[in-house]
Amino acid sequence: MPETLTPARRATLAALVDTFVAAVPHDGDDPHGFWATAGSALGADVAVEQYLTTRLPAEQLAGIVELLDAFTLTGLKNQPQHVREATVGVVSRIAPEAGVGVAAVRQLAINLAYAITDEQGRSPLLTGMGFPGVPDVADRLGRTLTVHETTPGEVVECDVVVVGSGSGGGVAAAELARAGRRVVVLEAGSYWSESEFGVTELAAYQQLCLKGGVFPTADGMVNVVAGGVVGGGSTVNWSNSVPLPDRLRERWASEFGLTDVAEDSWLEHARAVMDRLKVNDKVAYQNGPHTKLAQGADRLGWSYQTAALNIDPDRYVQHAAGFSGFGDATGAKQGTMRTYLQDASDAGAVLVPRARAVEVLVEDGAAAGVAVEILDDAGQVAHTVTISAPTVVVAAGSIETPALLLRSGIGGPAVGAGLKLHPAGLVSGLYGDEDLAPYDGPAQAGIMDQFGGTSTGGSAFLVEGVQQFPGLYASVTPWTSAAEHKELTSRYRSRADWVFIIEDLGGGRISIDDDGRSVATYPFDHEGDRRTFRNAVAACVRMHAASGADTIWVGGQPGTPWHRGEDVEEFVARLEELPLGAGGLVAFSAHQMGSAPLGTDPATSVADVRGELHDVRGVWIADASGMPTCSSVNPMITVMTLARRTAHHVLAG
Ligand SMILES: Cc1cc2nc3c(=O)[nH]c(=O)nc-3n(C[C@H](O)[C@H](O)[C@H](O)COP(=O)(O)OP(=O)(O)OC[C@H]3O[C@@H](n4cnc5c(N)ncnc54)[C@H](O)[C@@H]3O)c2cc1C
Repeated sequence: MPETLTPARRATLAALVDTFVAAVPHDGDDPHGFWATAGSALGADVAVEQYLTTRLPAEQLAGIVELLDAFTLTGLKNQPQHVREATVGVVSRIAPEAGVGVAAVRQLAINLAYAITDEQGRSPLLTGMGFPGVPDVADRLGRTLTVHETTPGEVVECDVVVVGSGSGGGVAAAELARAGRRVVVLEAGSYWSESEFGVTELAAYQQLCLKGGVFPTADGMVNVVAGGVVGGGSTVNWSNSVPLPDRLRERWASEFGLTDVAEDSWLEHARAVMDRLKVNDKVAYQNGPHTKLAQGADRLGWSYQTAALNIDPDRYVQHAAGFSGFGDATGAKQGTMRTYLQDASDAGAVLVPRARAVEVLVEDGAAAGVAVEILDDAGQVAHTVTISAPTVVVAAGSIETPALLLRSGIGGPAVGAGLKLHPAGLVSGLYGDEDLAPYDGPAQAGIMDQFGGTSTGGSAFLVEGVQQFPGLYASVTPWTSAAEHKELTSRYRSRADWVFIIEDLGGGRISIDDDGRSVATYPFDHEGDRRTFRNAVAACVRMHAASGADTIWVGGQPGTPWHRGEDVEEFVARLEELPLGAGGLVAFSAHQMGSAPLGTDPATSVADVRGELHDVRGVWIADASGMPTCSSVNPMITVMTLARRTAHHVLAG
């Protein structure tokens, strides 16, 4: 039973929310109420309470409650704004944990305040800052996959059960179904089609994301987001379609024994995947932020490439493409829902949505099927079923695949170790009063790859465009006062946000808690990775400065942004001193990999080089968790290539 807050704590929480997102005085017009609206007027206080009491582990909730009690003692709710802001600063400095707690509540409050909208995506804050709302799209597609409705206690017999319908699972299901196998695809998330996507930030968290949105690792170091819906990551992702770099193909072959990955057969798998996904660069429209990125790179003599995207040019709608991470209303995105799952369905496979695989069933050292919980609309267990099959393909993503193996007691000592996250940071620049229309066109239409292609590790990073998440990005915009924060967010249409991703050589771990739920930890303690993160921050700051930004900040930085006229290198040096992760520069991860890797050694890998578990016959890995290293580039194409390769090994027996 989730805890609820006492009235005193609730009142303090509302006061805190309204301290971070306050009604602030403004001289000019305020036609949409941007300046006049405080967070609680939008219901952000209620949403924050709901998040805290339903989503936080008990220990973290206890810490926040302690913090609320401290603020209650200061009489925060009765203070004027300037006293509240001073109080927040004082409490933050009492102890490092207090600072981390205040930062967490602040980010949550701002994220939710800027994400709460009506169904058209409008709110005083978003409309006031120029966010256009849900794109108008005619001709939305409906559901076309064959779904199997289960009954309580049912036992479904098939040849192959695929756990997870994302990038890896979708491809594996299609390859196996087309070869004549009777395939059942289990997907823990729901099945929504284009005509049902909400296309707002909050709806996307609730409808499409694993664990209901962005969630921190247990140590608070990285904020993770992954797909949790039919199509998995390929439904929510940003379409950037990059094959595995040659240097990593060679490494997977020479260090991990996947010798064919360095050969032509790998390229054939990759080509087949990219053809099926209609990968092309015709639709890579360069919007304002991308133009600034290309310009910054050019001025520093760095390389910038137009991106190849899995967006169907025939259905592409420029003004809607920038929202496709909230669920692509146009149907142009060629994720697995519109490609491989459709192929699987056409070849006779059935999909079971809201079907959470609880345990892989093993008899005499071989796969026997999967025990499954069927979830109701509220995510509660409605009933259980069993899928009986001699082949189990595990593709639940790099957070949940190891959790499933751990719950099943299979996979050996390497399960969960070696989690890679491609830690990513957001660096933003404001460009005078230019209208950059940052929501227009595909999210990732170009890649600054000067530092991505040749490194053997330790300094590889890419810089790319982003899909607009108004709430998430507002939550990591510097906050020294509510007025300054609104000043920065109000210049939304003149803002260019870029994300960098780093190749991580260190890693984290997936374990399970007492209830069998996945727990991710990522200490971010590899010195090379920390250096690379800082190098990437500095590169982005320098590109923004070279491109003419008047204001620059890094997601999560405390203190004021850089302003034109100030020394850029002094700002870079100031950023160098800030901690990374919890309480410091914010690290995100949309790319989880490597938590159940393929390899030759059962001590360090979970599956053999073909993808079959070392310790259980008939259980195969076909998702990002099987990657022996991170991909160093956006992973979808690598995941799909690896899954196609695994499926062909399954067929070869
Ligand atoms: C916001 C975002 C943007 C991205 N942008 C890009 C991009 O532009 N280019 C790129 O290359 N990559 C991108 N990625 C990453 C890419 O989408 C992932 O790397 C890829 O989808 C991983 O594939 P997967 O099969 O391992 O897992 P997923 O695609 O995540 O699929 C796993 C599926 O398994 C389901 N599942 C979990 N547990 C269970 C269970 N117990 N039982 C049944 N089902 C379960 C999940 O709900 C999920 O649908 C992005 C990811 C995100 C989140």
